[in-house]
Amino acid sequence: MEKNIENYMPGCVELYDVDRNDNLQKHSDLLQQCIQENTLSPIAEKAPDFWDFPEQLYLDEIRDVMEADGLLAEYEKNEDKFIEWLHDHDTSSPAEKLLKNTGNTVFFYFLDLVDGHSCDPELKEKILRKIKKVLKPKNSNDTDSELQYMIDEASDGGELRIYFTATVSDLIDEAKDFQTISFKGKCCVAIVDSSDGTGADCTVELNLDLPFSRENLFIDKCVRYSYTYDICDMPDDWCKRTSFQLSHSPLKKKTAFPVSKNGAYLKQQAEYAKTFKNGGCTLNDMNITRHQNVEYINEFPCGFKCLSCGTSWNN
Ligand SMILES: [Zn+2]
Repeated sequence: MEKNIENYMPGCVELYDVDRNDNLQKHSDLLQQCIQENTLSPIAEKAPDFWDFPEQLYLDEIRDVMEADGLLAEYEKNEDKFIEWLHDHDTSSPAEKLLKNTGNTVFFYFLDLVDGHSCDPELKEKILRKIKKVLKPKNSNDTDSELQYMIDEASDGGELRIYFTATVSDLIDEAKDFQTISFKGKCCVAIVDSSDGTGADCTVELNLDLPFSRENLFIDKCVRYSYTYDICDMPDDWCKRTSFQLSHSPLKKKTAFPVSKNGAYLKQQAEYAKTFKNGGCTLNDMNITRHQNVEYINEFPCGFKCLSCGTSWNN
């Protein structure tokens, strides 16, 4: 940039102004991507897109001063260069600030699948034994009644999960991934069916060390029917009593744990969203807002149909 123009550039540039109310709570898919990939870089890449034209204030100021000096034509000729210069000299860190403002998020750790029981006493007893084998609860008599209550309420079965709150940064170590996750003390345990939107929870005293797998770690808001918000409409801190620790040391005894199907579900949702963003849509994506050409068909079987891909929603 020419010397005479450089004088008009600001001394300090902070392009992205993060207000204390700005956070990533509404971007749980982005947070889940960070969790799955053990990196905060998706936030750093995406954060600048949240501002439409961050250079505007600085450009207005430069323009006004140059115009007063009779250099308006010079300003207009160089505007693109000014934008580039502003980005090169930007010292704001929107990703870190947004992440800090986001605070705690509700997570769950998937443990195993639990069958439904249709109130059959034998099945309920079998489920109780299975859950105790997974959780190895500390205090058996008290916990039996807690667990029995949860099993009774969650008659459809679903995923056995431990719920807790944490910041996304708590669960990321870009240098070296964790190998063990431990839950000690009173923990919030739940059986949840996220495809049907049913479930129940209870509190159990645990002393549990588990192999840490990112395939089993989820932000509750990301699954189809989240237990906290969609099923129970609970506050963000309902499971804050669960305390967890992460460690880089592996467990001495290797145990195999099943993998949650939520990962595959989220991956498919991300593919549907990407196809839609690129101007297409996908047969059997039941989210009606992700279709290109939906019309109401007034002939049997009546209902909405996407004329682009053929997905139909019958009444
Ligand atoms: Zn479609």
